[in-house]
Amino acid sequence: TDPAATPDEIAFEGALRPTSLAEFVGQPKVRGQLEVLLQAARMQERTPDHILLAGPPGLGKTTLATIIGAETGRPIRYSSGPAIQHAGDLAAVLSALVPGEVLFVDEIHRMARSAEEMLYLAMEDFRIDIMVGKGAGAASIPLELAPFTLVGATTRSGMLPAPLRDRFGFTAHLEFYDPADLERVLARSSRLMDLTIEPAALAELAGRSRGTPRIANRLLRRVRDWLLVHEGSSDLEGVRAALELYDVDEAGLDRIDRAVLHAIAHRFTGGPVGLSTLAAAVGEEADTIESVVEPFLVREGLIGRTPRGRIATPTGMRHAGAQTQDATLD
Ligand code: ATP
Repeated sequence: TDPAATPDEIAFEGALRPTSLAEFVGQPKVRGQLEVLLQAARMQERTPDHILLAGPPGLGKTTLATIIGAETGRPIRYSSGPAIQHAGDLAAVLSALVPGEVLFVDEIHRMARSAEEMLYLAMEDFRIDIMVGKGAGAASIPLELAPFTLVGATTRSGMLPAPLRDRFGFTAHLEFYDPADLERVLARSSRLMDLTIEPAALAELAGRSRGTPRIANRLLRRVRDWLLVHEGSSDLEGVRAALELYDVDEAGLDRIDRAVLHAIAHRFTGGPVGLSTLAAAVGEEADTIESVVEPFLVREGLIGRTPRGRIATPTGMRHAGAQTQDATLD
């Protein structure tokens, strides 16, 4: 979950969360893959294989985990990597599972190493070994677990050790949404929020949402506020004014995106620049840049990754208002 989210935003997100695969907009490939996986498990009356959901924040990993629970009619338990800092934390969660339960572990790449090793055995054989005592008197006591489905979510699948990655029966790679899908997400959310926004305005919002449903819904809230305060009309002009107020540019880049692009283009004259230098230059965590900012800027063709570091593409240079070498030539 987004660390910047307020309790109000979390409640708002929950209210807008689709509860079935049919309601889940976009990601047709992942939806098709999950449909078959879940239906096969239903037909054979077994727990579905473990599933890893990989992709940048806000694309619907938690939503999909909730849907997996609902579609299989199983209870779901939520946990997260940062909450599992010792093998004992994981043992407590695993031993409390009821048969068939779905265990969702968000940010699974941030789990402690010792817990990861316990998880290998749990995923494969539904059992764990609990160590009691220390030194010569230490003994390991095997504990049988109820069969369960682990749904792991990660923004950094490359950081998962191979033995853990290999124990998932299926990895769903979530992609950024295209504007048409985001328009459907926004149409659904505005219906649920009792807001009437004209189609051209919804399309404008969708185009500026960084390919991310969470951001689309968040901008919709800002537009709702703007309309309320300005008693404005829900047309294109109102949406543009609201987005300008909240610093979202016409390509959907937010403040951090622009800071990163600007630093590569101007400070490092187009790059290449290493991740840690870039992070220091914009005053952000390297992890945030790598898992949140970069995937979007790369997908938009504004920056590129090379073995020597990050570079701004000619389009990126133009967006940042910097001169490219090409531009100086012509
Ligand atoms: P994080 O990793 O940061 O927790 P996430 O990938 O788990 O993010 P979610 O919390 O599942 O993202 O989704 C964020 C918001 O976007 C939710 O409010 C949800 O309603 C909405 N959303 C996500 N995907 C979809 C979708 N496919 N259709 C409709 N709404 C969606």
